[in-house]
Amino acid sequence: MTINEGIGAGIILNSQIYSGFMGGAGEIGHIPVDPNGEICICGQRGCVETVLTSSFILKKCQNQSAEHGQAVPQSFDEIISRYEAGEAWLEPIFDQIVKVTMLMIASTVNFISPEVVIIEGWMNRSANFSEMLRAAIENFPFPFKFTRDRVLSASYGEKGALYGSATLKLQKIFSASVLD
Ligand SMILES: [Zn+2]
Repeated sequence: MTINEGIGAGIILNSQIYSGFMGGAGEIGHIPVDPNGEICICGQRGCVETVLTSSFILKKCQNQSAEHGQAVPQSFDEIISRYEAGEAWLEPIFDQIVKVTMLMIASTVNFISPEVVIIEGWMNRSANFSEMLRAAIENFPFPFKFTRDRVLSASYGEKGALYGSATLKLQKIFSASVLD
């Protein structure tokens, strides 16, 4: 799962990438989680993307900073640093983000029961958030237990998608028949 300015998932089933019909699999960012939420880029209200993407979080924190008498954050990185430094007004915002991340992961785990969930994105830069999320996963009542050691941080970081698409292309080239 990549969670940054957008959200998406790559699904690997039996060592093969599963793309779904017309390549549409893995659109986890548009799972609806809040019928009264903000309008998403897809036109629907309250998608996961309207809660977890860095641009939406930045906007929300900028809007709420004034009513808490706090300096307006200028960037998403600044919000992460201030959250890590323990600024109390950010806690309810991030508590909600943990809940929604949990819902997204729980939907996926209950649906396809993956061996592991690998996360790439801003969450890996916040030790507080990573710990809260893993604790939430540990305590979630999955019908089949899903333990925290099955939630991994992506080792390739933001280059993962690039490596993945290059690998797909190489596979296509080297498995191509000379008659194609
Ligand atoms: Zn959407």
